[in-house]
Amino acid sequence: MWKLTESRRQFFAGCRRPEENFWKTLFEQAGRQSLIGHPKYADFLSWKPTHSNCPELENATRNLIEIAPMEWKATMRNIFVARAFKGEANAQASAFRSAGIIELNYGLTVAAMIYSTLFSQFYDAIRTTAMGVDWADEDVATTQMILEEIERSAFDPISAADDAVQTWAAERHVRATSPLHVELPPARQVADHSNLVLAVEEFVVGHEYCHHMLGHTDSSFRHARTIKQRVKQLLSEIESSSAMEELNDAQWQELEADIGALLLLSGSLSGKSERWQIYRAVGGSMLALVSLAHVMESWIDGGEQHPNFLVRYEVMCKAITKLTRGVPIGSRTDHPVGFLIQFRGFISAVLQTWASRVGEDIEAPKFLNIFSWMIDLQVEFTEDFEAGEVTA
Ligand SMILES: [Zn+2]
Repeated sequence: MWKLTESRRQFFAGCRRPEENFWKTLFEQAGRQSLIGHPKYADFLSWKPTHSNCPELENATRNLIEIAPMEWKATMRNIFVARAFKGEANAQASAFRSAGIIELNYGLTVAAMIYSTLFSQFYDAIRTTAMGVDWADEDVATTQMILEEIERSAFDPISAADDAVQTWAAERHVRATSPLHVELPPARQVADHSNLVLAVEEFVVGHEYCHHMLGHTDSSFRHARTIKQRVKQLLSEIESSSAMEELNDAQWQELEADIGALLLLSGSLSGKSERWQIYRAVGGSMLALVSLAHVMESWIDGGEQHPNFLVRYEVMCKAITKLTRGVPIGSRTDHPVGFLIQFRGFISAVLQTWASRVGEDIEAPKFLNIFSWMIDLQVEFTEDFEAGEVTA
């Protein structure tokens, strides 16, 4: 059985560091001795790792344990969740005889920060178009100019991020290379933004917890059968596509971990699912898949271990639609599937930007096309919902 002290010891021994705050290691490696010695940071840097080597991840870990089903909690408490800077910009779960470890590369978090910013900008452009553009205005030229401005504000940051992929791949780490990646729209609250980034981190860590808890890392370990069954059940209810039928066992396990993380974050596994948790799971899962695909360039080729982005994304959209069938329309006529549609619009812009760079005959996305497609999806969903026929 795993023990937290052993899991923690094993992680730090593996990277040959004392048990210390991730940021202290980072500052030291970056040669920022002046920061390490500064009294302002003394408390923060002397923080001691328990479940994680990073204070924010320690919180994320506690949140996840809190919403986990009873039969998972004891094991999850003994897993050490680490921020790592080496290796590829993704996450991984590893098991030893008495240690369970989850590592989340900091590069992935930076990608999540960038994508959360891009999504905020896109979301604002959609809102402005829906509420601020007067479609009945006879001054067509002005309407056109407004739309061009919206298109620029929604898509310029996306293509700037897309252009930077090559640099990221070459240097094996991710950083914001353009002010467009870090400038939030003026209306956006910093707290909302960091909440979305945390949701992405929780989804990715949740996915890795699921690899452990569903028995993908250590087959001798006892697993909660009913929960394994829940995950398999939801996956089996999703209409299979030809791409899904071609997946190997390792790739199927990735889908199981994705679905497990969705169920965990939405509170469904512990049977105490609340509306805000479902929204958080939608945002976290969507942006996590996009950030991963971006840093790994796995939009259409995921390699032998992972399904490509398109498959994971399709499965996640269908799973969210299935999972939220019973959720009533909210007081502001909102619904998790409506929120999902915002992400789908954003993701189609991201995908098309990428495709127009690598493909010969593919055009850059047009804002109005995406906008009207999103409205079609929304109308279709509302009609099906009212008729009680929401399917996935
Ligand atoms: Zn995985």
